[in-house]
Amino acid sequence: MFEVAVEQGFASAHALRNYKGRCENVHGHNWKVRVVIEGEKLDQTGMLVDFLDVKSWMGEILDRIDHQFLNEIPPFDVVNPSAENIAEYFYQQMTGRLDGTPVPVRIREVKIWETEIQSATYRPK
Ligand SMILES: [Zn+2]
Repeated sequence: MFEVAVEQGFASAHALRNYKGRCENVHGHNWKVRVVIEGEKLDQTGMLVDFLDVKSWMGEILDRIDHQFLNEIPPFDVVNPSAENIAEYFYQQMTGRLDGTPVPVRIREVKIWETEIQSATYRPK
């Protein structure tokens, strides 16, 4: 089994709904996201997936949410923009982009850091 991971950062604001405490107020984070991709076979160049492709796919997703107020962007206008839900959102968005890869790959997990010491991970069953 092979595994590759790419990390990117983004800066966005959010406000947690149904939460009693400071995080119900609008505030921002310098988030970090790590996408881990796994698969059993390598392509003809010896790669599981091209890092540049992964960065490009992540960039497409980040273009929607970087420097934004997440609560105003679907699905977070309905779904609470918690680190957990952002991780699942990344998973869903990335999964759709993996269809055309030279060898079969899948996402093992997406981890979102809200701060240096606090992270949430989404992993498919
Ligand atoms: Zn927060």
